[in-house]
Amino acid sequence: MSIRLKITIWYTVIVLIMALGFIGVMTHMENENAANEIKARLLEVVSDVSEKIDVTEDGVRVDKSARFNDAGVYIALYDKNGEMIEGRHPIEISKLPDFDDRSMRTEKDEEGKDWYVYDSAFETNAGTVWVRGIVKDAHEEESRNALIRFFILAVPLLVLLSFVGGYIITHRAFAPVRKVTRAAEQIAKDGDLSRRLEYGSGKDEIKHLSDIFNRMFGRLQLNMEKEKRFTADVSHELRTPLSVIISQSDYALQDPDYAGDALGAINKEAKDMSSLLSKLLFLSRSDADTVVIEKEDIDLSMLCEAIFEEQQGAFEAEGITLRSNVQPGVTVSGDEAMIMNSILNLLGNAFKYRREEGAEVTLRLRTETADVRREKNAVISVTDNGPGIAPENIERIWDRFFREDPDERKKDSSGLGLAIVKAMVDVNGGTVRAESVKGEGSTFVIELPVVDGQ
Ligand code: ADP
Repeated sequence: MSIRLKITIWYTVIVLIMALGFIGVMTHMENENAANEIKARLLEVVSDVSEKIDVTEDGVRVDKSARFNDAGVYIALYDKNGEMIEGRHPIEISKLPDFDDRSMRTEKDEEGKDWYVYDSAFETNAGTVWVRGIVKDAHEEESRNALIRFFILAVPLLVLLSFVGGYIITHRAFAPVRKVTRAAEQIAKDGDLSRRLEYGSGKDEIKHLSDIFNRMFGRLQLNMEKEKRFTADVSHELRTPLSVIISQSDYALQDPDYAGDALGAINKEAKDMSSLLSKLLFLSRSDADTVVIEKEDIDLSMLCEAIFEEQQGAFEAEGITLRSNVQPGVTVSGDEAMIMNSILNLLGNAFKYRREEGAEVTLRLRTETADVRREKNAVISVTDNGPGIAPENIERIWDRFFREDPDERKKDSSGLGLAIVKAMVDVNGGTVRAESVKGEGSTFVIELPVVDGQ
């Protein structure tokens, strides 16, 4: 059963219940009214007749104008022995009740129908004389008839109206859902994630749902594209060393004298491939959140000084001035190998992407209080005066296999370095960012929370 049909049936039933409730209340009120009216009529007729009775010495005398059967009310006059002097009483009631002055009572006739009885007493010399009025309580019958008429006419009409009206309204209300469903079905069928669900400019729940779906499709599309690019990049990266290995081994097979050189080249390519695969493995672990880290308190100041000491020689050999500005006593908690690798990677990039003349690189460490949470961070930065990065690429440098210049491939560059730095810093609870001015230089900044109490 569709939701549309369910809703329609549901509120048709509600309308029916409400109609019946309404009829019930109306009938009850109608009953009360009708009963009161009948009683009032009885009282009126009895008092009317009573007024027309004259008490005489020998009994009573009734005025000729007194009506003994008025508007369905039976009126009769009885003497002190309960014998009828004048008037009539309904034949339906065989046994009449005892007299009771000015009290309204209900009596049942042979068929079980109710009658109202009202007596009024007159004291005469000849004893008490009674005027008795009896009227049939027809109110239930009257309202039952009204109820049946309403049932036959109004209820089927009401049910039909609410069902048809409801069905049309819900059909219209669900039109956007059908539209969105059809579009989603189409996307599922042809797998085209670039398609989007179209849903005008409304602001309702369906619009919200389509927006969420569209965002989800967008992300899926982006991920799929990334995945595709990544697979293409990996195959490309592996193809180069593999073709070197194949060609070198071919040469070696053809010319045994060349075997030594070939083995050397093959060994280098195989090592590069192995290093590439280790990097990829690390990145896929980081994607799956399964990187295992060995957390410990690290004296970051000492680590930076040690890295500086160790790297200075290599930088100077290439004519690069390496400086350091390290705040002492900064301790962070994290995986020392990963943090060291990240700093080395940034220094390695500053080394690789340097200017020809007068290259300068500075390694800095200081602490800084983050404004918002008042937490202290260790800030490690590597600044160079190299070629810089174009603004449009500043975000992309963190992507896997991204190189600003495709020729960088030759410069011993995998395009994975910064992606790995980001993953390593992330897993240690830190952040990393880059600032750069094309042609002037770049600064890479790693921020790590310092150990409590510093
Ligand atoms: P790679 O292994 O190629 O260095 P990275 O992921 O470390 O890969 O860097 C990605 C790209 O970002 C580099 O190819 C380079 O274009 C740019 N880049 C990184 N560091 C610097 C820097 N210090 N100066 C200029 N460009 C840089």
